[in-house]
Amino acid sequence: MKILVLNAGSSSLKYRLFSNREEAAGGVVERIGEPEGVKDHMEALKIAEREILSSGIVKRFGDLDGVGHRVVHGGERFSRAALIDSSVLEALKELVSLAPLHNRANIEGIETMKKLAPGVAQVAVFDTAFHQSLSEEAFLYAVPIEIYREFGVRRYGFHGTSHLYVAKEAAKLLGAPLKELNIITLHLGNGASACAIEGGRSVDTSMGFTPLEGLVMGTRCGDLDPHIPLFLQEKGLDAAKILNSESGLKGLCGRNDMREVERMAQEGDEKAILALKIFVRRVKKYIGAYNAILGRVDALVFTAGIGENSPLVRSLCCEGLEGLGFVLDEERNRNLRSVVSSHESSVKILVIQTDEELDIALQTEALLREDRL
Ligand code: ADP
Repeated sequence: MKILVLNAGSSSLKYRLFSNREEAAGGVVERIGEPEGVKDHMEALKIAEREILSSGIVKRFGDLDGVGHRVVHGGERFSRAALIDSSVLEALKELVSLAPLHNRANIEGIETMKKLAPGVAQVAVFDTAFHQSLSEEAFLYAVPIEIYREFGVRRYGFHGTSHLYVAKEAAKLLGAPLKELNIITLHLGNGASACAIEGGRSVDTSMGFTPLEGLVMGTRCGDLDPHIPLFLQEKGLDAAKILNSESGLKGLCGRNDMREVERMAQEGDEKAILALKIFVRRVKKYIGAYNAILGRVDALVFTAGIGENSPLVRSLCCEGLEGLGFVLDEERNRNLRSVVSSHESSVKILVIQTDEELDIALQTEALLREDRL
């Protein structure tokens, strides 16, 4: 099957073409809507189209078997991918209030694609869907229950496609059915989240109502006392901007790129050393918490930019966890082997490359096959 995967953001459009599950073309169009950049998603998709057609796999968009869209928020309505029809599109529009920036851009991607290739099936794959298996006790915040009922304020969780993809890969690597495994997955990229997975189902995750909760991220604060944003507002500051764009690693040491933070820390920069310590401490808190939630952990998975590429972060995150059964083999860890735990470790520690776009293509394909039955 020929599947195009689109990740339409507010200022960028990422695209990858898969032909029989192999990548055939891909790229990113940036600076959408900026004065010097590309006018809108239509113009961006036309740029992408040129690149995609030059691969020779399809002669026109109409030859595609389907388009898979990454959609950030599926609310409570979507617990799996959905074939996009007018009622799904309507539901996506209703969800805009939960993730204004992201969902609006995703919808624009869908509507633009519909104009360019009206006959091609389109599928929405949601970041939140995998976490719809969370129980009430895991997804409710301890606030008046009416706030959940009226406004949908609850934990949704994000990065679901990535957490499930690496969990499935972990099961393959361990040669065991996913159904029988308890796994903690750590998606450590610019955005970062942890997930507790029991028998292939997400039972807890660190991101919440929005992608701001949980781990320390590139520019996002993660967990904090909920009174802090109120206090900042009282001081006349823009709490949303500070906590989303000026916090995390950037807020602590001026850099949001972990490679730079590591380099600065190695050169003795005290702010960078502290930022790294705070980042790692938060990850360890979640490993401990999910260890308690799961009761038994078979595997700990590191993924995404930092998780896949930073032996230092992996080493620091596992330091002192030997008593809990997490024993890293430093040599394997440095050499980037997929299994980086030592033989005496009761928990397998794994480094797995995530591939959200490939998974979106696979989910799109699966749904189209189902639809044809
Ligand atoms: P996004 O959330 O934007 O998809 P990525 O998964 O690409 O992010 O991760 C980006 C992060 O990964 C950045 O902080 C970057 O510094 C970090 N990273 C990439 N390579 C390395 C490396 N070799 N060592 C440490 N951090 C790395």
